[in-house]
Amino acid sequence: MGDVVLGAHGFWARRQQVNTSATLDHIAGWLDRSGWLANFGSPASARRGREFSDTEIYKYLEALAWEYGRTREPAIDARFRSIAARVASAQEPDGYLNTNFGRPGQAPRYSDLEWGHELYSYGHLIQAAVARARTVGTDDFVQVAIRAADHVCKVFGPGGIASVCGHPEIEPALAELYRVTGDTRYLEQARLFVSRRGGPVLSDIEFGRSYFQDDMPVRAADILRGHAVRAMYLTAGAVDVAVETGDGELLEAIERQWRNTVARRVYLTGGVGARHQDEAFADDYVLPPDRAYSETCASVGSVMLAWRLLLATGKVRYADLIERTLFNVIATSPSDDGRRFFYTNTLHQRSLGAQPPPDEMVPRASSTLRAPWFTVSCCPTNLARTFASLTAYLATTDNDGVQIHQYASATLTTSQVSLEVETDYPASGEIVVHIRRAPGTPWTLTLRVPAWAVGATCTIGDEPADAEPGWLRIRRRFTAGETVRLSLPMAARLTYPDPRIDAVRGCVAVERGPVVYCAESVDLPPGTTVDQVRIDASVPLADSPGEVVAAGQLVRVSEDGWPYGGNAFDRETENVELILRPYHDWASRGPSTMRVWLPLDQVRPPLGTAGPVSDTAGPTVDTAGPLLDTAGRDVSGS
Ligand SMILES: [Zn+2]
Repeated sequence: MGDVVLGAHGFWARRQQVNTSATLDHIAGWLDRSGWLANFGSPASARRGREFSDTEIYKYLEALAWEYGRTREPAIDARFRSIAARVASAQEPDGYLNTNFGRPGQAPRYSDLEWGHELYSYGHLIQAAVARARTVGTDDFVQVAIRAADHVCKVFGPGGIASVCGHPEIEPALAELYRVTGDTRYLEQARLFVSRRGGPVLSDIEFGRSYFQDDMPVRAADILRGHAVRAMYLTAGAVDVAVETGDGELLEAIERQWRNTVARRVYLTGGVGARHQDEAFADDYVLPPDRAYSETCASVGSVMLAWRLLLATGKVRYADLIERTLFNVIATSPSDDGRRFFYTNTLHQRSLGAQPPPDEMVPRASSTLRAPWFTVSCCPTNLARTFASLTAYLATTDNDGVQIHQYASATLTTSQVSLEVETDYPASGEIVVHIRRAPGTPWTLTLRVPAWAVGATCTIGDEPADAEPGWLRIRRRFTAGETVRLSLPMAARLTYPDPRIDAVRGCVAVERGPVVYCAESVDLPPGTTVDQVRIDASVPLADSPGEVVAAGQLVRVSEDGWPYGGNAFDRETENVELILRPYHDWASRGPSTMRVWLPLDQVRPPLGTAGPVSDTAGPTVDTAGPLLDTAGRDVSGS
């Protein structure tokens, strides 16, 4: 895409501004006080932080690079240069760069490929350099990354160490470095890393080799598995390699893995990772909301993967998942003020949390409220680089025109076309595209109609056009001053889970447009928790952008000491208005219990009091209500 600039107001503009005005300074402060920045240029004995802490400096540099490209603010550039110089000072003459290995008193270089994260660290260094090259050009810092990449090609290329890093990341980085430099050695090295993995080449570990996707060749897998962030970065790199080398089989393998993963291993929010012990995908349909790990970084990786698949294939499903993930994980993690973050993004919080102290690092998944910093602090810097580069995901161009994938107030400019998108999405579903400048020849404006937007309408000037979910392609000779209006139906809706997801069977969720809603105890009567909530799905939802009201019930629960028995748990209830708010805002009003999946009102009389029950062969049915077939259709009249 040529140039995309967000408008002054709007859902994403606000978050991008908070990233600029608060998060970047916040991160700088923590990189300082943690000592992780000082590791560059300090003696080995003084090193602080985990083995991968260098990457937080690199992701911060990447965020600054995108931010400077976006704003051309000299202070941002000065900060970039000062940190980049510090990083450069720690590079060895042969290109090696890592503060945790290779010096007297430290483990030797590449002595722990399973857990050492050296190549992973180069990956983030290189991605920061790619951001710099794309926004400024090849400067000294880009040369640092090139020297590191040359070193990697020498040490891990043909005839060198025939292995991979326990944490993928260098794969997409090298492919991107090839794109900005044109040097095919980097692409070939990325291809080698992708093709070696699964040999297997790494040692077995307690989580099994699937943890780092070394259990089978990348192109042989059917589904994503293991550590979720690793799986996303690896497959993002595999798509890059497939596209740049023309490997259709590899691309199809990743598409297949993505389809199966989305069908069986992704939360409603777009979040991934249902296992805490190894931050990993669980088995098919094992998606417990109260054990959702859903690491923020895994969603950053999921957006990176879906974006590459969208560019490679043009399939709308990838843009749909990007939207879901942006609104419901990426927007959920940071606090309003941009100084606290969720590392994990649960869909069900059963206990009231406590606010972590503002000046302490907390263990990664221990906090039930957003925390300022973590001992493993991958997520805040990942968010910062994502917000700084967010406009990249809005639109694309090709020879035929402009494709708008995500909606926000913005101006879009190419050499041929200038468009202004006006909307307060997702508060409303009204999106107006003003044609400001257009060539005198026909071209195609493509708009995404999300999969949930059944019943959307579109008008071009005064002419109506079809707007089925999928791509809406409008080909014509546009003239300056014309408008295209897309109206997406934003009424709140009930969403039911596949019956194989046992953890939420009998529950329903509420969505409005692309936004998942949730119940929080701060909206319930004092002394009650969300675990007492039931929803009556037969009563229509009352809805506004900020809040949806459902008919609910609170069930009285007892603490008898044995949570099993006859069918008597749900019988004492109290009707309540159930207020639901956007999940991305949860926990912004203090400690709260929260749930996305709401149990349906299932109050039933005890067995034996429901009237006559069939005693003939075949399924037993309660004759008091309509007969439902297995798809839930009313078949009592058939
Ligand atoms: Zn993370």
